[in-house]
Amino acid sequence: MNQMALDKAAILAEALPYIRRFSGKTVVIKYGGAAMAAADLKDAVMQDIALMKYVGMNPVVVHGGGPEVSAMAKKLGIESAFVDGLRVTDAATMEIAQMVLVGKTNREIVTHLGRHGIKAVGLSGQDGGLIKAVKHMHKSMKTGESVDLGFVGDVAAVDVDLLHSLTGAGFVPVISPIGIGPDGEPYNINADTVAGEIAAALHAEKLVLLTDVEGVRADKDDPSSLLNRVTAEEIKTWMAKGKIEGGMIPKLQCCLTALEAGVNRVHIIDGRVLHSLLLEIFTDRGVGTMVIK
Ligand code: ADP
Ligand code: MG
Repeated sequence: MNQMALDKAAILAEALPYIRRFSGKTVVIKYGGAAMAAADLKDAVMQDIALMKYVGMNPVVVHGGGPEVSAMAKKLGIESAFVDGLRVTDAATMEIAQMVLVGKTNREIVTHLGRHGIKAVGLSGQDGGLIKAVKHMHKSMKTGESVDLGFVGDVAAVDVDLLHSLTGAGFVPVISPIGIGPDGEPYNINADTVAGEIAAALHAEKLVLLTDVEGVRADKDDPSSLLNRVTAEEIKTWMAKGKIEGGMIPKLQCCLTALEAGVNRVHIIDGRVLHSLLLEIFTDRGVGTMVIK
């Protein structure tokens, strides 16, 4: 037997305790950033999710797609603007967000999982009243003043019955981050926020957020300040000091939401690394930041 074959066997054996621990458990995956753009990374993520499903886990996917929404808006002559990491969403931008996220991105993920033999079902938060939303009343993190972000929503409620029906029947739900308002109007919700709320409502075992940085930095401008672990208290302190900004704000807030609701582990991992999801779930090697209570 050659060494390579033995190494392979050792790697597979190393996965056994993880497969045993997570079998039958729900893992919510926020799919976004670079892992959604490059073909090889995309396929690796889809394979990892398929593998999770085949070994008995219940993966639930929430996807982002901000850059594609911005690109389409630009094609149509609309510039995108952000406040504290949240997209300013007027009626036209909302329409584009739905067309891109629900009509294109979601379909692509469902199809791609299907190619790996997984029966995925695409959902918008509007389907079956999955995500009830309310308008997000925003106060600027810099000035404290109210800012109207248009159709940006907060999650008011999540209908887990629908998700349980799907996972119970063997389907992998793939969710677009759009909610439905009190009058049936659509709301654009940050995908991290949706993933956190869904993980919380499902009492998921794990929430994994794929992003395009190596993890959370104590100081956003200092690469050497990368954190392997961070506590909820530390996050609150750094946020107040302005060391965390942009898209990392909703990301960390959603980690807090999930942890408070009893989700066991929350990880922010580097989606630019091939099979980072596989490494996180099935090995001892951390590939990002673990957020703990
Ligand atoms: P995603 O598509 O994964 O949601 P975002 O752009 O919304 O990505 O959020 C991640 C970004 O947050 C990083 O690319 C980084 O520029 C920024 N960021 C701000 N503060 C920090 C910090 N303290 N540590 C790491 N990244 C940070
Ligand atoms: Mg983001």
